[in-house]
Amino acid sequence: MKPRLFITRELFDDVIARLSQYFDIEIWDRYHHPPYEVLLERARNVDALVSLLTDRIDCNLLSNAPRLRIVAQYAVGFDNVDVECATRLGIYVTNTPDVISDTVAELTWALILAVTKRILEADEFVRRGGWYETRTAWHPKMMLGTELKGKVLGIIGLGRIGTRVAKIGVLGFGMKVIYYDIVRYKEKEGILGVEYRSSLEDVLREADIVSIHVPLTKDTYHMIGERELKMMKPTAILINTARGAVVDTEALVKALREGWIAGAGLDVFEGEPIPPNHPLTAFKNVVLVPHIGSATYEGRHRMAEVVLENLIAFYEGRVPPNLVNPDVVKVRPPGFK
Ligand code: NAD
Repeated sequence: MKPRLFITRELFDDVIARLSQYFDIEIWDRYHHPPYEVLLERARNVDALVSLLTDRIDCNLLSNAPRLRIVAQYAVGFDNVDVECATRLGIYVTNTPDVISDTVAELTWALILAVTKRILEADEFVRRGGWYETRTAWHPKMMLGTELKGKVLGIIGLGRIGTRVAKIGVLGFGMKVIYYDIVRYKEKEGILGVEYRSSLEDVLREADIVSIHVPLTKDTYHMIGERELKMMKPTAILINTARGAVVDTEALVKALREGWIAGAGLDVFEGEPIPPNHPLTAFKNVVLVPHIGSATYEGRHRMAEVVLENLIAFYEGRVPPNLVNPDVVKVRPPGFK
């Protein structure tokens, strides 16, 4: 008998076809994520689960899933999974790192460019007839933005995505790039030409653009709050393509309202999806996109392939390549037997 697998959202057909050679699959085929009760009920009866960041895989769910051996998360971040609890219960947890680093770095740059070049405002100016009404094709002071060359890009978290963003900053735009991280990457500093700052404060004070690339953990929750936003230059902008809760939203709204910073580009939010009357929608100097950091066909398909690789490795009794809780191996060997 094949092990049972529940997939919490539709993935790509070719990947499902390959998975079905190994597993008996059930897929939640609605657009909206399965309610927690459905997750609980399915988890109770399956051997493997493919989850998304919108699925709450907490200790209650894991403890009530006697057959469950592996949670293969279809995402890089896994802050929705209680990894500690999974490890204790001998449940393997995997993610899909690196295969979307370029995609997310590109979106990060799309936001940086959209804010500094005022792309949304300019587009609206044309579409809504503002430009036409001026009867003026060109004016030296029309829609002035900010040049990136020579400016300072501050990266918070020089991991896989932060590194890609830094590289484009140095090579593509001739920026000075500084970073703060709990790990110092001396080798990368040399290769990329980036400079380390030993405190978050130093990066915040010096940077013209601050871009966040840390995972959401108990240490990074609200890492950017009132105090930090006040340290930024009033001309600086904040970009967040990591996780919404790394930034204290209320503090950010206050910072924008009172002009502590000059703008923001956000892909991630506290409480997604945000409503259309959210306070952040009031600002012209803020660009908002709906958590599309990894949303390219190439990226999302590669993520599905990584989920497949992790599940097949586990099926074959091998340690999955993207195991996020390596200690679990001491609790139970990989495999469904
Ligand atoms: P990564 O693990 O390669 O890099 C994270 C970096 O953050 C590491 O260098 C780590 O040392 C550093 N870090 C961790 N805790 C820190 C702290 N307290 N202070 C300072 N630095 C700290 O991860 P990645 O692949 O670059 O992804 C980063 C994050 O981006 C993910 O965790 C995920 O939440 C988010 N992400 C978002 C999207 C999206 O769709 N917007 C897509 C992929 C990933």
